[in-house]
Amino acid sequence: MPILKIITQPNPILRKKSKEIVLKEISAGSFAGLVRAMEKTMIKTDGVGLAAPQIGKNIRLAIINSKDGSICLINPEIIKKSWAKELDQEGCLSIPGVFGKVKRHKKITLTYYNLTGKKTKLTAEGLMARVIQHEIDHLNGILFIDRAIKIESAQAGKGRSTL
Ligand SMILES: [Zn+2]
Repeated sequence: MPILKIITQPNPILRKKSKEIVLKEISAGSFAGLVRAMEKTMIKTDGVGLAAPQIGKNIRLAIINSKDGSICLINPEIIKKSWAKELDQEGCLSIPGVFGKVKRHKKITLTYYNLTGKKTKLTAEGLMARVIQHEIDHLNGILFIDRAIKIESAQAGKGRSTL
């Protein structure tokens, strides 16, 4: 399976609000194939997360590379966020060579549908919460450079993970 092409800024697909996925589409073999191709692409490009718009599809799908393997988020929705926020550096596979410090909620609770179409609830904090917020932003046409308080060069961001 070849890895997918990642589209970069200023491609207008990255700025569109993505569409909800109709749940019966999840059971189609092509959907599982797309998710597997996204996982492979994320791992090969050293990403911590990848949202469907980044591979040119405006659908509400993102995958996250967690310590327990990859998590597939279908129609994710944040239902609770901590008052406390945290400032940390982010990068993005769709904006190569650019890093910036972004304030994110420290802890979030979200609902999403998994690959079997089951509605699932997840609470995440720290890096995981950050990655999820970054990927959900992608589904809404928002890029981290819109939120970053300081943009840095590739040098300053060297060795940091990209989302
Ligand atoms: Zn990104």
